[in-house]
Amino acid sequence: MSYICVQSTREAIRAPLFFLEAARKTAFPTTNAGIVIAGCYCTVMTRIVAVANQKGGVGKTTTAINLAASVASRGHRVLLVDFDPQGNASSGVGWPRDRVERTIYDALTGEHTLAEVIVPTEITTLFLAPATTDLVGAEIELISADRRERFLADVLATVAADYEYIVIDCPPSLGLLTLNALVAADGVVVPMQAEYFALEGLSALTQTIEKIKAAYNPGLTIDGVLFTMFDARLSVANQVRDEVAKYFGDKIFGESIPRNVRLSEAPSHGKPVLLYDLKCAGTKSYLAIADEFLVRMQSAAPAERGATQ
Ligand code: ATP
Ligand code: MG
Repeated sequence: MSYICVQSTREAIRAPLFFLEAARKTAFPTTNAGIVIAGCYCTVMTRIVAVANQKGGVGKTTTAINLAASVASRGHRVLLVDFDPQGNASSGVGWPRDRVERTIYDALTGEHTLAEVIVPTEITTLFLAPATTDLVGAEIELISADRRERFLADVLATVAADYEYIVIDCPPSLGLLTLNALVAADGVVVPMQAEYFALEGLSALTQTIEKIKAAYNPGLTIDGVLFTMFDARLSVANQVRDEVAKYFGDKIFGESIPRNVRLSEAPSHGKPVLLYDLKCAGTKSYLAIADEFLVRMQSAAPAERGATQ
């Protein structure tokens, strides 16, 4: 008989399936019944990442979709949470408004569980919690609720054990929806364009992150700053990048996302770019970002990696 050990409750739920699969394939010549859960370490944990920047049109949704899809394509189970009433992340992975029956709003109000809201996508390891304009209502209704900043954290907790990464697409504001996302998150990925006005927006965002850390979520970290629609031939782009590097140093992803027409076409086909054009520059750069992100997550200290301990 083989003994397989797990540590925390959340891992205990997931580890048996994980190990049973491995056992069937390789090391353990045993049946399901022959494996006993006893107590040691398993490295699978959930990391919740908010893709946030209050500035509009900087590539948040493009990054949320393609980071989530690229990480999923590396074999990780990923949940993409559309937390913007515009619903662009939903339509961008094949769930336009007219196809969606239940949304993240229904989970926030308790009308449905989040598990009932989640739908599959064309990538077998990528799942979506969709949003529609209904979500505008949440911003108004939550304002007078108790623990109004923790609604998303509470509903994500009900499914977190099923995913290794949860990626939240935030709306272009620092309102109650973004507050909920940043309270629920372990880390923030900040997409930005390399232009002068972006610097002002970045300081507003970092001040907000500091306030949220102090008041609600002390473990919140910046997982990365990502330049989008980047053109290295422009001197202003390089100047802004150098300026941002003074504050964020190696938080800036080594790879930047170039302006690439395939990235803007893919959502109208309801596909992440890697399913639309595997060889284009947009696919290559988001896969490189996903790999860099995964290395960062794997080398982070356990205390910084998700809320499972
Ligand atoms: P909002 O603030 O409205 O939510 P956003 O920050 O989510 O916007 P996106 O919707 O991702 O930004 O991108 C804005 C527009 O720029 C979209 O039309 C998108 O297709 C396009 N876009 C984003 N990134 C790129 C890129 N690297 N190359 C070309 N087009 C891009
Ligand atoms: Mg968006």
